[in-house]
Amino acid sequence: MKKTILPLLLAALMLAHGTAGAWGFFGHRVISQVAVYELPSSMQAFYYRHMPELVRLSTAPDERRNDDPTEAPKHYIDMDHYSEDNPFGKMPRQYDKAVEKFKADTLKKYGTVPWVVMEMKDNLTEAFRSRDTAAIVKFSAELSHYVGDAFVPLHTTINYDGQLTDQKGLHSLWESTLPEKYINDYKLDGEPAKYIKDPLTAIWEVIQQSYGFLGETFDRATKIEKVMKPEVRFTFSHKYGKTSRRYSDAFAAEYEKAVGGMVDYRLKGAPTLVSSLWYSAWQDAGKPDLNALMTPSKPSKEEKAKLSTELSAWKKNTLAQDQLLLAQQKVKKAEAADEIKSAKDMEEPAPANATEVGAAPAAPAPAPEVNPAADKVKIKTKGKDGSEKVKLKGDAQK
Ligand SMILES: [Zn+2]
Repeated sequence: MKKTILPLLLAALMLAHGTAGAWGFFGHRVISQVAVYELPSSMQAFYYRHMPELVRLSTAPDERRNDDPTEAPKHYIDMDHYSEDNPFGKMPRQYDKAVEKFKADTLKKYGTVPWVVMEMKDNLTEAFRSRDTAAIVKFSAELSHYVGDAFVPLHTTINYDGQLTDQKGLHSLWESTLPEKYINDYKLDGEPAKYIKDPLTAIWEVIQQSYGFLGETFDRATKIEKVMKPEVRFTFSHKYGKTSRRYSDAFAAEYEKAVGGMVDYRLKGAPTLVSSLWYSAWQDAGKPDLNALMTPSKPSKEEKAKLSTELSAWKKNTLAQDQLLLAQQKVKKAEAADEIKSAKDMEEPAPANATEVGAAPAAPAPAPEVNPAADKVKIKTKGKDGSEKVKLKGDAQK
């Protein structure tokens, strides 16, 4: 009895996990690694020494989602719950003010990512003050994770998986499938870190930009749906007496042409804010000497040579082609064993006709124009009332 139920439960957990995790493990790892390259030299040796651990820990917040019921809402904020008409004008930026206006329970339900970013930044500042290497690495990784989440448009809406517009699966397509498949075409040469005087404003700007991309995120998928037949658009799998569908490789290829530039723009923007917040926390803590925390305190010849190779690949946008991204190695090994493979086992290979259409990946399209001031984002909700949306959201998150 138990033997037959357990795989089902596990599969359900894995699938829920897959939809819930932002950027996938791959994207979060890329963001953390690239952020190290954008640091000033006073911090870079320390961060480079700890880079593998930092990259690995950057997915910890997603890994604990299934064990910790308070974790999930930290990764998003459903702005359209508050209003579909200029929610940014209605939501106070300060947490205390937001609680006063909407109550803590409501904020918890619809997501708290901007304030979690602030909390992590404070934790990191404190870790620098106490010169605690383990805490510095941990909170740098966590800060990187939540900042990364804020860069994903689908983390700002109740229709976070396209589930309200018959586009279920859009979430992992946008943030996992596309970056994993097309990383060779993406540019990752972001800006160097700079001090951020007002991190709260900075993170809210990011969320507002993400929200501004939602219209394109849905509409460009709709455009493809109109010209691509369902049997080509989806890959169907039958397991445990249930049929499930996911977007096919052919759809992914077309969607990449339509939104790849946007995905790249967000993937490249995140590390710059991450490294800037690391740098700001360090400066706010009085710029402790990070080399003094290293044993040996100076980078070795090999470390220097390796870093310089990676820095030049980063600048030339060849990190992925040169197989220098730690995320490229990890995905094939340890993590693939449980998480990803179990989910993959649920799927059957795509039909031949679905793979052929997407054979030649096109260069990423330019990022669509953002209009952060836009007070309205088109979100098709299919006339569901608020309570139904909430329920849908809760179901898929857990
Ligand atoms: Zn997350």
